[in-house]
Amino acid sequence: MNVIGKVTVLPRLPAAIRRLEELAYNLYWSWTPKAQDLYASLDAGIWNRFQHNPVRTLLEVSADRLAEVAADPEYLARYEAVLADFDAYMNKKDTWAARNAGALGGPGKGVAYFSMEYAYHECLPIYSGGLGVLAGDHCKSASDLGLPFTAVGMLFRQGYFTQLFNKDGWQQERYDELDLTTLPVRPAKLDSGDDARVSVRIMGREIILRIWTLQVGRIRVLLLDSNVPENSEDDRKMTARLYGGNQELRIQQYLLLGIGGVRALRAMKVDASVYHMNEGHAAFMALERIREQVAAGMDFRTATEAVASATLFTTHTPVPAGNDAYAYDLTDRYLGDWPTQLGTSRNELYELARQEQNWDNQWVPSFSMSVFALRMSRAANGVSELHGEVSRGLWNFLYQGAEPEEVPIGHVTNGAHNLTFLAQQYRELFDRVLPADWTERLEDRAMWDAVRDIPDADLAAAKREQKVEMIDFVRASVRQQLERNGASAADVADVDGLLSPDVLTIGFARRFATYKRATLLFRDKARLSAILNNPDRPVQFVFAGKAHPADNPGKAFIQEIYRTSQEPEFKGKIVILENYDMNVARHLVQGVDVWMNNPRRPLEASGTSGMKASFNGSPNFSVLDGWWREGYDGKNGWPIGDEREYADLNLQDDADAFSLYRTLEDSIAPLYYAQDAEGQNHGWLETVRQSVVTVNPEFSMQRQVIDYIQKYYLPLDARSAHVNAEQEAVARTLGGWKAWIRQQWPFVGLQASAQLPASVEPGEHVTVSAQVNGAGIADSDLRVEAVLKRGEHLTRVPLQSLGQGRYETSIPLDASGLYSIGVRMLPTHADLSNEFELGLLKWA
Ligand SMILES: *Cc1c(COP(=O)(O)O)cnc(C)c1O
Repeated sequence: MNVIGKVTVLPRLPAAIRRLEELAYNLYWSWTPKAQDLYASLDAGIWNRFQHNPVRTLLEVSADRLAEVAADPEYLARYEAVLADFDAYMNKKDTWAARNAGALGGPGKGVAYFSMEYAYHECLPIYSGGLGVLAGDHCKSASDLGLPFTAVGMLFRQGYFTQLFNKDGWQQERYDELDLTTLPVRPAKLDSGDDARVSVRIMGREIILRIWTLQVGRIRVLLLDSNVPENSEDDRKMTARLYGGNQELRIQQYLLLGIGGVRALRAMKVDASVYHMNEGHAAFMALERIREQVAAGMDFRTATEAVASATLFTTHTPVPAGNDAYAYDLTDRYLGDWPTQLGTSRNELYELARQEQNWDNQWVPSFSMSVFALRMSRAANGVSELHGEVSRGLWNFLYQGAEPEEVPIGHVTNGAHNLTFLAQQYRELFDRVLPADWTERLEDRAMWDAVRDIPDADLAAAKREQKVEMIDFVRASVRQQLERNGASAADVADVDGLLSPDVLTIGFARRFATYKRATLLFRDKARLSAILNNPDRPVQFVFAGKAHPADNPGKAFIQEIYRTSQEPEFKGKIVILENYDMNVARHLVQGVDVWMNNPRRPLEASGTSGMKASFNGSPNFSVLDGWWREGYDGKNGWPIGDEREYADLNLQDDADAFSLYRTLEDSIAPLYYAQDAEGQNHGWLETVRQSVVTVNPEFSMQRQVIDYIQKYYLPLDARSAHVNAEQEAVARTLGGWKAWIRQQWPFVGLQASAQLPASVEPGEHVTVSAQVNGAGIADSDLRVEAVLKRGEHLTRVPLQSLGQGRYETSIPLDASGLYSIGVRMLPTHADLSNEFELGLLKWA
């Protein structure tokens, strides 16, 4: 049949359960197991077949069944209770944000958050991994906190991909075309009642985007989709797949997200005073926002100041290769007409994103999305303490002359949305010991201490139930895979012997990027076999994870694990599951005893899966990288390896594998199997409690979003208000001032001298003086300073102007040690976000 359109007709719900439809379209249910149960108990088969999608479940379930539950008092009682909670949540006025972030409310205010991917739930496969989960969780906590917040992203109708293993354990990718009308999204409507659309010009063609809305609790997500009849066949595919295709498709998608996203906000009359770029993918949002200001009469420099003043950039990659950068000829093809639209030159625009690349043994300039994002924001952060430090090193070259620790990139350590990942059994235990409003105070450390009051037997029983559920889930998944691949009846029957609930179970699931070293465990197979097959203290492993479709080394890792799992000594004790998604993730983090992570330090920017495991009483056993370097307290899990970096990767792998085996043999397995007089395992459960109590608050997404609000959103809101006040006078002055400084800077000069005896007593002073040629820049616009470094300590002491370009100061040397002393100058202005904003600095 030649389909000219599709229409979804939702069933007419009986009045008693009428609001099941409304609830289905609010992802509130995705972190509320009792709400999910309302749909699951309509028809468990349908619920499971369609990725736990409430909208689809309502579409598929029979009218008879709906009539039946509408007359069932037990069902109706659950329905009323869930809807009462839902209404209380949606209508709450006294939220954290109302109490603490009122400045972000009101007309023209709020946060606009842009991300290429979002993971909210398995039925919306528009994510590939950690970045998406982080973005999805960020939205959920923004809703929980009552923050005025709108998210912008893409509706990839073929998603990322469904992962299947063939008979040899090689990853196959399947792309299923989603029928968007069966998902919990709705077409965005204009006031006129028409569907909202925007367009973006790419390579001379006007690409039309349809806007879909997704309601996540109290906040709204706008999702863009190019699959409309007005677009050509090829253009309709632009938003088909996440991270599919080549560099060109990537830049096309970035243009749609950044430019189309801002236009979508405007079409929907959403305003914002703070814009958050989640990763460099979103950086083109700045182009459109500058264009708007230029069209309203501002000059390019002023507009750039105004736009950047309201923007935060979060970087996630710790390696240069992870940052998209385009050759200038490719950039020209896509940004060719933008300099004119922005009232600037190609040179001036590209300079804002310039990064030299060594491509084919030749240094060439490129247009770097991350550099552009850094230049188009006035605040930037990494996603853990160590990643902040690594990022400052990575981008130090943009701030010539600044010491690495001075590079203006901070950090907010990632968190995860507790309720999305918490097992029902644990929620019920927490309900018993925590205050009634615990789900609203997740970041409250002291509150969590009450978890220590949960008796051993209850804690152990809850974990055991979760583990049995997880093992059932694993067996069902493997059975399906074997049947699909035509395995023998005997092999299929063997599945019932996969994994035992009595055995210490360790989980490992993540994207199969090679730096995550999924096969490190197999470095010494004989030793591993001895650990797994120890008759007194056996151990078993569950693996899962997707490799990017183009990542053959990653796929080879999957195959190696699969093949190892088929060897006689490992059969039934090592399993690798297909299609790591949020559903698999939930089962694993809830059901395993220990969560393992062994990335090559310091490449794991943060990692979040281990947090979800600890929320559920599965302690971490991980390399001291990313979040775990901050989370490990000596009692809530175990480290792998030392806190150091290696030049020789092979040596690093050996050392980490050795540490891994030894800790398993000497610490984890003995503790797990120890029994006290009551037949309980108190020592183990203490570790479980410690992981629950320490990780839940500190790595809650709620703590993370509060950090973003306090550290970045509120200051940026204040800054942009200041810059935008009085007809942009500040932005104009600042923009003009910067241009003047940049023009004069090559001509400034600085000479310095210090009277330094070979050694001095503590408390003595040394005099440092300098001669400055300001090249016409006013004294008041220059900061001339001495910089003292003693070990890790860096001190800055301003020199006083004596007139005629002469500067001097006397510096006390208080502590003993070896000091290095230097003199430098940098331009200074009250309205800079920080002194390194211009990246101009001159040392004597
Ligand atoms: C949490 C999660 C991730 C990210 O976990 P990492 O620790 O960063 O590897 C990836 N995929 C899914 C499905 C997740 O739930």
